[in-house]
Amino acid sequence: MKRTISAILLILITFSCKQIPVTPAELNIILLIGDGMGIAQIYAAMTANNGNLNLEKCTHTGLQKTYSANRYITDSGAAATAMATGIKTKNGMIGTDIYSQPVRTILEYAEINGLSTGLVATSTITHATPASFLAHQPDRGEYEKIAADFLDSGIDIFIGGGKNHFTRREDRVNLLDSLVIRGYHITNNVSEINIQEEKIACFTADLDNSPADSGRGDMLPEATKNAIHFLHHKGTGFFLMVEGSQIDWAAHDNDTKRVISEMIDFDKAIGVALDFAEKNKNTLVIITADHETGGMGITGGDVVSSTVEAYFVTDGHTATMVPVFACGPGSEKFSGIYENTAIFHKMMESYGFRIE
Ligand code: MG
Ligand code: ZN
Repeated sequence: MKRTISAILLILITFSCKQIPVTPAELNIILLIGDGMGIAQIYAAMTANNGNLNLEKCTHTGLQKTYSANRYITDSGAAATAMATGIKTKNGMIGTDIYSQPVRTILEYAEINGLSTGLVATSTITHATPASFLAHQPDRGEYEKIAADFLDSGIDIFIGGGKNHFTRREDRVNLLDSLVIRGYHITNNVSEINIQEEKIACFTADLDNSPADSGRGDMLPEATKNAIHFLHHKGTGFFLMVEGSQIDWAAHDNDTKRVISEMIDFDKAIGVALDFAEKNKNTLVIITADHETGGMGITGGDVVSSTVEAYFVTDGHTATMVPVFACGPGSEKFSGIYENTAIFHKMMESYGFRIE
């Protein structure tokens, strides 16, 4: 009898000590950030687009508070760092805390946990919003240092402008060579993204991309579609951040027409993400902004003729809360009012990652 009990105990101990094999999380998260996208920017585009946008398909909505560690009105660096790392930092900082120390980002957690990762932007890829997901620099203006941070990030695909920050550098180092050594295929064309490649660096411009209404075409929705297919093909779960970067720039210029064209372009990318999520149910799509730009107010217009008149109270950013839209598994977590840092924690929770 005693022997039987000890045998059972031994079996139990053996079983409980056995390592559970680590399987990569199967969840995909697509985080789409409209830089400067407040409620007025959204409603202006909705009105101009015959009364509807793709983002209306999202099942859950919330609001996030955007203030940074040192300013009531945030910049894109501090705001994206908050969403990427879960901590508030000072304006101008990229992936660091207020003491300039690096903080691990959601993209880096995804890499560590065996997922595939990507970034897409209509600005330079080294610009504050995308940079905050993998670079760690106390100054957002250090584009060449930010570019160097891409090398060992492990990111599987990135698409955006800013090739010059990799090639025409003060240190005269050509980072494209360094990328090739690390398995990246370099291309300048979003339509040339081959899912068979190991990794992709796609530079759509030497510096900034053109605006949506003057030459950029469908770069953003196409890049989003190809990045999703590339990451999906890897067979792991993935994390992808897609930025509609130039909504902010149009709002800084108080240019209603351009705000609308950038918004509609961004919404096409949202449509691509939602179509994928519809077919691949293990996909959480989150759409939000880093802050509002311009204090845009809709002062006139008409739903029948799809016209909008707007007035801006500033050429800078504002402190107002910005909306969050979500659909897919775990999207209910995004209802309510919370800090921008909560976006990171909600994503971590959805993946089942532990903070290290
Ligand atoms: Mg940005
Ligand atoms: Zn701005």
